[in-house]
Amino acid sequence: MTLIAIIMFLKTAVLVVITTLSFAFPVSAKPMKVLASIHPLGLIAASVTPLENLEVLVPEGITPHDFSLRPSDIDRLQEADVILWSGRQAEPYLAGFARRWPDKTWIDLSSFSVEGQVRDPHYWLSVPISLKAQQALAEALGVTSDDFSRQVERVVVYSDEVLAPVKDRGFFVFHRAYDHWVNERGLNQVGAFTLTPEQKPGMRTLQLMRDQLRGGDVACVFREPEYSPALVVKVVGDLRVKQGELDPLGTHISLSKDGYPYFLRDMADRAVNCLKK
Ligand SMILES: [Zn+2]
Repeated sequence: MTLIAIIMFLKTAVLVVITTLSFAFPVSAKPMKVLASIHPLGLIAASVTPLENLEVLVPEGITPHDFSLRPSDIDRLQEADVILWSGRQAEPYLAGFARRWPDKTWIDLSSFSVEGQVRDPHYWLSVPISLKAQQALAEALGVTSDDFSRQVERVVVYSDEVLAPVKDRGFFVFHRAYDHWVNERGLNQVGAFTLTPEQKPGMRTLQLMRDQLRGGDVACVFREPEYSPALVVKVVGDLRVKQGELDPLGTHISLSKDGYPYFLRDMADRAVNCLKK
């Protein structure tokens, strides 16, 4: 064989190997980028999204009540293929983009309705709504995930078990964020320090709350880590009532496959700890 013939032979051989390899290991499609608007939706999304393809829009320590989009956030929105959000009432800053970019997959928790639902824009605290949203995300990503619903069902059973002895004990929450959870778990929420954190309660509300605390209707008051406890301290004063902390955003729970069921479990545990005698 001449040198040229050998080179030609090697070239063909290399080509054959490359072609065979590319059939055996097809280049996979570009992974879908998921943007969860807030941390608890990130917890739901992490059940089916590899963490390297998942981002959370609203930074830690900021709530949807006091968030506004920065230019860099708009870039992140633009790069996302799928956006998981809570709807225009909870997250008005995304409503315009959902209309402007209809070619992206927008999964809006407020679009799922379930039986006996209460009106509260903190939809991620509803188990059936969150399950539906997670299912929709799994479908958008083309994956199946029976594990998630099984895990969540187990936590619901656990929650109902541990909460049963304290179901009738009254409590105040910091802001009106927990109605889905309170309703689904059948708990006795007596009131909230504020309807939304942007509004401070009036004197009459504060007086009513003091009376309820004095009357013994309230076993526990819950603060929230994102807001100053000054209001709680002011209302409770020197009255003897237990205090706990609930976070509707579950900020202290890190994004992982089972983050959401863990978030629900943690809420039940915190409630029991504060409500028990
Ligand atoms: Zn809220």
